[in-house]
Amino acid sequence: MPSCFIALGGNLGDVAAAFDSALKRLDAAPGVSVRQISSTYQTVPVGSSAGSVYLNAAAELHCRLPALDLLSLLQAEEQRAGRERPFHWSPRTLDLDLILYGSRLIRHPRLVVPHPAAWYRRFVLDPLAEIAGGVLHPEKRQTISALRGRLLVRPLIVRLTGGAAAHRMSLAAELRRQFPQVEFTVDEQAGSVFSQPLDSTGGTPGLVLWLGPDLEATGHRHRETGPAGSDRTAFELLPLASRLDLTAWPGPPAVGAVAVLQAALG
Ligand code: ADP
Ligand code: MG
Repeated sequence: MPSCFIALGGNLGDVAAAFDSALKRLDAAPGVSVRQISSTYQTVPVGSSAGSVYLNAAAELHCRLPALDLLSLLQAEEQRAGRERPFHWSPRTLDLDLILYGSRLIRHPRLVVPHPAAWYRRFVLDPLAEIAGGVLHPEKRQTISALRGRLLVRPLIVRLTGGAAAHRMSLAAELRRQFPQVEFTVDEQAGSVFSQPLDSTGGTPGLVLWLGPDLEATGHRHRETGPAGSDRTAFELLPLASRLDLTAWPGPPAVGAVAVLQAALG
Protein backbone atom coordinates (compact mmCIF):
# COMPACT_ATOMS: atom_id res chain seq x y z
CA MET A 1 0.00 0.00 0.00
CA PRO A 2 1.60 3.30 -1.01
CA SER A 3 2.66 5.76 1.63
CA CYS A 4 1.28 9.19 0.82
CA PHE A 5 2.26 12.51 2.29
CA ILE A 6 -0.08 15.46 2.48
CA ALA A 7 0.55 19.07 3.48
CA LEU A 8 -1.98 20.89 5.62
CA GLY A 9 -2.24 24.67 5.74
CA GLY A 10 -4.64 27.39 6.77
CA ASN A 11 -4.88 30.88 8.20
CA LEU A 12 -8.57 31.57 8.86
CA GLY A 13 -10.54 30.54 11.94
CA ASP A 14 -9.46 27.72 14.25
CA VAL A 15 -6.96 26.13 11.91
CA ALA A 16 -5.57 23.65 14.45
CA ALA A 17 -9.09 22.31 15.01
CA ALA A 18 -9.64 22.12 11.24
CA PHE A 19 -6.41 20.05 10.87
CA ASP A 20 -7.50 17.78 13.68
CA SER A 21 -10.96 17.08 12.37
CA ALA A 22 -9.79 16.63 8.76
CA LEU A 23 -7.19 14.06 9.86
CA LYS A 24 -9.74 12.19 11.99
CA ARG A 25 -12.18 12.04 9.10
CA LEU A 26 -9.47 10.94 6.64
CA ASP A 27 -8.42 8.21 9.05
CA ALA A 28 -12.04 7.05 9.23
CA ALA A 29 -12.42 6.95 5.43
CA PRO A 30 -12.35 3.46 3.88
CA GLY A 31 -8.93 2.66 2.40
CA VAL A 32 -7.11 5.45 4.27
CA SER A 33 -5.22 5.38 7.53
CA VAL A 34 -3.25 8.21 9.10
CA ARG A 35 0.18 6.93 10.17
CA GLN A 36 2.12 10.00 11.27
CA ILE A 37 1.38 13.66 11.93
CA SER A 38 4.09 16.34 12.19
CA SER A 39 4.09 19.19 14.65
CA THR A 40 2.27 22.32 13.60
CA TYR A 41 4.39 25.23 12.33
CA GLN A 42 3.62 28.92 12.18
CA THR A 43 4.67 30.51 8.92
CA VAL A 44 4.57 33.97 7.40
CA PRO A 45 2.27 34.01 4.37
CA VAL A 46 3.64 34.13 0.84
CA GLY A 47 2.05 36.80 -1.35
CA SER A 48 0.83 40.17 -0.20
CA SER A 49 -2.87 39.22 -0.31
CA ALA A 50 -2.52 35.98 1.62
CA GLY A 51 -3.64 37.40 4.99
CA SER A 52 -2.37 36.61 8.49
CA VAL A 53 0.05 33.98 9.82
CA TYR A 54 -0.38 30.43 8.54
CA LEU A 55 -0.33 27.14 10.35
CA ASN A 56 1.28 24.30 8.43
CA ALA A 57 1.70 20.60 9.09
CA ALA A 58 2.29 17.35 7.22
CA ALA A 59 0.86 13.87 7.60
CA GLU A 60 1.61 10.41 6.30
CA LEU A 61 -1.31 8.34 5.09
CA HIS A 62 -1.43 4.76 4.01
CA CYS A 63 -3.85 4.78 1.15
CA ARG A 64 -5.45 2.04 -0.90
CA LEU A 65 -7.41 4.55 -3.01
CA PRO A 66 -6.29 5.71 -6.45
CA ALA A 67 -4.59 9.10 -6.27
CA LEU A 68 -7.52 11.00 -7.83
CA ASP A 69 -9.92 9.51 -5.28
CA LEU A 70 -7.61 10.58 -2.49
CA LEU A 71 -7.54 14.09 -4.00
CA SER A 72 -11.36 14.11 -4.02
CA LEU A 73 -11.36 13.15 -0.35
CA LEU A 74 -8.93 15.96 0.45
CA GLN A 75 -11.06 18.43 -1.50
CA ALA A 76 -14.20 17.26 0.29
CA GLU A 77 -12.45 17.97 3.60
CA GLU A 78 -11.49 21.44 2.38
CA GLN A 79 -15.11 22.11 1.44
CA ARG A 80 -16.31 20.81 4.76
CA ALA A 81 -13.98 23.22 6.54
CA GLY A 82 -15.76 26.01 4.71
CA ARG A 83 -13.04 26.89 2.29
CA GLU A 84 -13.85 29.56 -0.27
CA ARG A 85 -11.62 30.55 -3.13
CA PRO A 86 -12.43 34.20 -3.89
CA PHE A 87 -8.95 34.63 -5.48
CA HIS A 88 -5.70 32.77 -5.91
CA TRP A 89 -3.77 32.57 -2.63
CA SER A 90 -6.62 34.07 -0.67
CA PRO A 91 -6.77 33.35 3.07
CA ARG A 92 -8.16 29.87 3.67
CA THR A 93 -9.56 27.81 6.49
CA LEU A 94 -7.98 24.60 5.21
CA ASP A 95 -5.72 23.70 2.29
CA LEU A 96 -4.86 20.04 1.80
CA ASP A 97 -2.27 19.25 -0.86
CA LEU A 98 -1.11 15.83 -1.95
CA ILE A 99 2.68 16.05 -1.91
CA LEU A 100 3.81 12.47 -2.55
CA TYR A 101 1.90 9.35 -3.54
CA GLY A 102 4.42 6.58 -3.02
CA SER A 103 7.13 7.17 -5.61
CA ARG A 104 4.63 7.85 -8.37
CA LEU A 105 4.87 10.65 -10.93
CA ILE A 106 1.39 11.86 -11.87
CA ARG A 107 0.45 14.49 -14.45
CA HIS A 108 -3.28 14.89 -14.73
CA PRO A 109 -5.37 18.06 -15.28
CA ARG A 110 -6.59 17.79 -11.67
CA LEU A 111 -3.48 16.44 -10.04
CA VAL A 112 0.28 16.83 -10.31
CA VAL A 113 2.37 14.66 -7.98
CA PRO A 114 4.89 15.25 -6.51
CA HIS A 115 3.28 18.61 -5.82
CA PRO A 116 5.33 20.85 -8.13
CA ALA A 117 6.17 23.52 -5.54
CA ALA A 118 6.78 21.26 -2.53
CA TRP A 119 10.52 20.83 -3.14
CA TYR A 120 11.39 24.50 -2.55
CA ARG A 121 8.79 25.58 0.00
CA ARG A 122 10.04 25.66 3.56
CA PHE A 123 6.46 25.70 4.86
CA VAL A 124 6.00 22.29 3.23
CA LEU A 125 9.51 20.88 3.77
CA ASP A 126 9.89 21.80 7.45
CA PRO A 127 6.93 19.75 8.70
CA LEU A 128 7.48 17.07 6.05
CA ALA A 129 11.14 16.57 7.02
CA GLU A 130 9.99 15.70 10.54
CA ILE A 131 8.06 12.64 9.35
CA ALA A 132 9.59 11.92 5.92
CA GLY A 133 13.20 13.15 6.12
CA GLY A 134 14.59 9.99 4.54
CA VAL A 135 11.94 9.66 1.85
CA LEU A 136 13.16 10.17 -1.70
CA HIS A 137 11.52 12.85 -3.85
CA PRO A 138 10.99 10.78 -7.00
CA GLU A 139 11.46 13.67 -9.41
CA LYS A 140 14.32 15.59 -7.77
CA ARG A 141 15.97 12.32 -6.66
CA GLN A 142 16.97 13.74 -3.30
CA THR A 143 15.59 13.03 0.13
CA ILE A 144 13.20 15.48 1.74
CA SER A 145 15.92 16.30 4.32
CA ALA A 146 18.45 17.01 1.60
CA LEU A 147 16.02 19.24 -0.32
CA ARG A 148 15.36 21.17 2.86
CA GLY A 149 19.04 21.32 3.86
CA ARG A 150 19.98 22.98 0.57
CA LEU A 151 17.67 25.88 1.42
CA LEU A 152 19.12 26.44 4.91
CA VAL A 153 22.52 27.58 3.58
CA ARG A 154 23.23 31.32 4.07
CA PRO A 155 23.82 33.16 1.99
CA LEU A 156 21.50 31.11 -0.17
CA ILE A 157 23.01 31.03 -3.63
CA VAL A 158 20.49 31.56 -6.41
CA ARG A 159 21.53 31.41 -10.04
CA LEU A 160 19.62 33.24 -12.77
CA THR A 161 19.91 31.79 -16.23
CA GLY A 162 18.18 31.82 -19.61
CA GLY A 163 16.17 34.65 -21.14
CA ALA A 164 17.84 37.81 -22.37
CA ALA A 165 21.00 39.06 -20.61
CA ALA A 166 19.41 42.46 -19.91
CA HIS A 167 16.44 40.75 -18.29
CA ARG A 168 18.65 38.53 -16.12
CA MET A 169 20.64 41.57 -14.95
CA SER A 170 17.65 43.77 -14.18
CA LEU A 171 15.84 40.96 -12.39
CA ALA A 172 18.94 40.24 -10.30
CA ALA A 173 19.23 43.93 -9.36
CA GLU A 174 15.59 44.01 -8.30
CA LEU A 175 15.88 40.80 -6.29
CA ARG A 176 19.13 41.86 -4.58
CA ARG A 177 17.32 44.84 -3.09
CA GLN A 178 14.59 42.60 -1.69
CA PHE A 179 16.63 39.61 -0.54
CA PRO A 180 19.92 40.63 1.12
CA GLN A 181 20.32 37.11 2.55
CA VAL A 182 20.61 35.72 -0.99
CA GLU A 183 23.67 35.80 -3.21
CA PHE A 184 22.48 36.05 -6.79
CA THR A 185 24.73 34.83 -9.55
CA VAL A 186 23.82 35.73 -13.10
CA ASP A 187 24.95 33.74 -16.12
CA GLU A 188 26.82 36.30 -18.20
CA GLN A 189 26.53 34.80 -21.63
CA ALA A 190 23.64 33.45 -23.53
CA GLY A 191 23.90 29.71 -23.52
CA SER A 192 26.36 29.63 -20.63
CA VAL A 193 24.43 26.67 -19.29
CA PHE A 194 26.87 24.76 -21.46
CA SER A 195 29.96 26.12 -19.74
CA GLN A 196 28.64 25.93 -16.14
CA PRO A 197 30.49 28.99 -14.78
CA LEU A 198 31.48 28.91 -11.13
CA ASP A 199 29.90 31.62 -9.05
CA SER A 200 32.09 33.94 -7.01
CA THR A 201 31.94 31.81 -3.86
CA GLY A 202 32.40 28.54 -5.69
CA GLY A 203 29.27 27.36 -3.91
CA THR A 204 26.49 25.26 -5.32
CA PRO A 205 23.28 27.17 -6.04
CA GLY A 206 20.35 26.19 -3.86
CA LEU A 207 18.06 27.30 -6.68
CA VAL A 208 18.59 27.78 -10.39
CA LEU A 209 15.88 29.99 -11.88
CA TRP A 210 15.39 29.63 -15.62
CA LEU A 211 13.92 32.57 -17.57
CA GLY A 212 13.27 30.75 -20.83
CA PRO A 213 15.28 30.03 -23.97
CA ASP A 214 18.35 32.23 -24.40
CA LEU A 215 17.08 34.97 -26.68
CA GLU A 216 20.55 36.03 -27.84
CA ALA A 217 21.35 32.54 -29.06
CA THR A 218 19.86 32.42 -32.52
CA GLY A 219 19.06 28.79 -32.18
CA HIS A 220 22.32 27.16 -33.25
CA ARG A 221 23.17 26.09 -29.72
CA HIS A 222 19.85 24.38 -29.36
CA ARG A 223 20.28 22.64 -32.68
CA GLU A 224 23.62 21.28 -31.53
CA THR A 225 22.10 19.61 -28.55
CA GLY A 226 18.64 18.58 -29.58
CA PRO A 227 15.99 18.66 -32.25
CA ALA A 228 15.23 22.14 -33.63
CA GLY A 229 12.56 23.87 -31.57
CA SER A 230 13.32 21.97 -28.39
CA ASP A 231 13.30 25.17 -26.37
CA ARG A 232 13.48 23.32 -23.11
CA THR A 233 16.78 21.63 -24.01
CA ALA A 234 18.70 24.31 -22.14
CA PHE A 235 16.46 23.83 -19.11
CA GLU A 236 16.87 20.07 -19.14
CA LEU A 237 20.65 20.54 -18.95
CA LEU A 238 20.43 22.49 -15.68
CA PRO A 239 21.00 20.62 -12.40
CA LEU A 240 17.91 18.52 -11.73
CA ALA A 241 17.71 19.11 -7.98
CA SER A 242 17.72 22.91 -8.10
CA ARG A 243 16.26 23.95 -11.46
CA LEU A 244 12.99 25.83 -11.59
CA ASP A 245 11.28 26.96 -14.78
CA LEU A 246 10.00 30.50 -14.17
CA THR A 247 8.26 30.52 -17.56
CA ALA A 248 5.77 28.03 -16.10
CA TRP A 249 4.75 30.68 -13.55
CA PRO A 250 1.26 32.03 -14.37
CA GLY A 251 2.30 35.70 -13.95
CA PRO A 252 5.38 37.84 -14.70
CA PRO A 253 8.66 36.03 -13.91
CA ALA A 254 9.69 38.76 -11.44
CA VAL A 255 6.56 38.11 -9.38
CA GLY A 256 7.19 34.37 -9.59
CA ALA A 257 10.81 34.78 -8.48
CA VAL A 258 9.75 36.81 -5.42
CA ALA A 259 7.14 34.22 -4.40
CA VAL A 260 9.58 31.35 -4.92
CA LEU A 261 12.30 33.06 -2.88
CA GLN A 262 9.96 33.98 -0.04
CA ALA A 263 8.82 30.37 0.16
CA ALA A 264 12.38 29.03 -0.11
CA LEU A 265 13.83 31.32 2.59
CA GLY A 266 11.06 30.49 5.08
P1 ADP B 1 -3.17 25.98 -3.91
O1 ADP B 1 -3.05 24.74 -3.07
O2 ADP B 1 -2.09 26.09 -4.95
O3 ADP B 1 -3.32 27.23 -3.11
P2 ADP B 1 -5.82 25.05 -4.54
O4 ADP B 1 -5.76 24.30 -3.24
O5 ADP B 1 -6.97 25.99 -4.74
O6 ADP B 1 -4.50 25.88 -4.78
O7 ADP B 1 -5.79 23.96 -5.69
C1 ADP B 1 -5.96 24.31 -7.00
C2 ADP B 1 -6.05 23.05 -7.86
O8 ADP B 1 -4.82 22.34 -7.79
C3 ADP B 1 -7.09 22.03 -7.46
O9 ADP B 1 -8.20 22.22 -8.26
C4 ADP B 1 -6.42 20.68 -7.73
O10 ADP B 1 -7.14 19.92 -8.68
C5 ADP B 1 -5.07 21.06 -8.29
N1 ADP B 1 -3.96 20.19 -7.89
C6 ADP B 1 -3.00 19.74 -8.76
N2 ADP B 1 -2.10 19.00 -8.12
C7 ADP B 1 -2.46 18.97 -6.82
C8 ADP B 1 -1.87 18.35 -5.68
N3 ADP B 1 -0.75 17.62 -5.77
N4 ADP B 1 -2.51 18.51 -4.48
C9 ADP B 1 -3.64 19.26 -4.42
N5 ADP B 1 -4.23 19.87 -5.46
C10 ADP B 1 -3.65 19.74 -6.66
MG1 MG C 1 -4.29 23.16 -2.41
